[in-house]
Amino acid sequence: MLGRRKSKAPTAIERRHMDRIAQMGCDDRFWSKVDKRGHDDCWPWLSTKAPRGYGQFWLDGRYKPATHIALALHGNPQPPEAPFALHSCDNPPCVNPMHLRWGTPQENMDDRKRRGRANSCVGASHGRAKLREDVVRLIRLDTRPQKDIASSYGIGQSAVSRIKAGKSWGHSR
Ligand SMILES: [Zn+2]
Repeated sequence: MLGRRKSKAPTAIERRHMDRIAQMGCDDRFWSKVDKRGHDDCWPWLSTKAPRGYGQFWLDGRYKPATHIALALHGNPQPPEAPFALHSCDNPPCVNPMHLRWGTPQENMDDRKRRGRANSCVGASHGRAKLREDVVRLIRLDTRPQKDIASSYGIGQSAVSRIKAGKSWGHSR
């Protein structure tokens, strides 16, 4: 069962993610916090939310983005090169896996820009500050080695180290 799948094997973080989900039988616990509607409808998260409306699910001693768990439970764990869950519906509390996909940092940024333009309430510079906050939060949640995190996000390892230590991009928690 084990071994021999060197390059295609899930990363440690993916495996841990899936193991925890299986172990804790969190499937039911997760979906009990979701207003599951029709197949194509948005499925709003009913429990704890981050300030911008993204669902937060308590797992393994910390809050995780509900969108990430929804994708993982749907058999689609986070690939290391695409650490962002993107909404096709632009609706932050939605966790319908049909409306979610993994995106690279670049795709996430493009998505933000597109939405920033569409939403006149959010200025471009404001949008960028929010994006940084989200990245900081994700980096702090990321348990991979700092050098892997750095390459995922296209930043230097020293920046990751500062973020982890709470020294950089100060105002984000
Ligand atoms: Zn949706």
